[in-house]
Amino acid sequence: MAPTTAAWQWQLDAVCRGSSSDIFFSPSGEGRTARRQREDQAKVLCGQCPVISQCRRFALAANEPFGVWGGMTARERALRRTAERKAG
Ligand code: SF4
Repeated sequence: MAPTTAAWQWQLDAVCRGSSSDIFFSPSGEGRTARRQREDQAKVLCGQCPVISQCRRFALAANEPFGVWGGMTARERALRRTAERKAG
């Protein structure tokens, strides 16, 4: 069995590594426009990230309920999960 840390190895190459997570997670009381702008900025960073696929797979598999992961918002992940359930 692979070492447990192997599952997290991709995070070492993350563009967001070591930076503030503020851009990825919604603060309390955030309005719709501010949220969209913040999420758009996060997606730009994710679009430059070499581990976007691994990050997205992780968030989808973990049913991560908050934040932008792998260029997808929590809402987009929820919609994908719903679509996948309907598709069987
Ligand atoms: S895809 Fe986005 S959230 Fe995921 S590691 Fe890269 S920059 Fe961070």
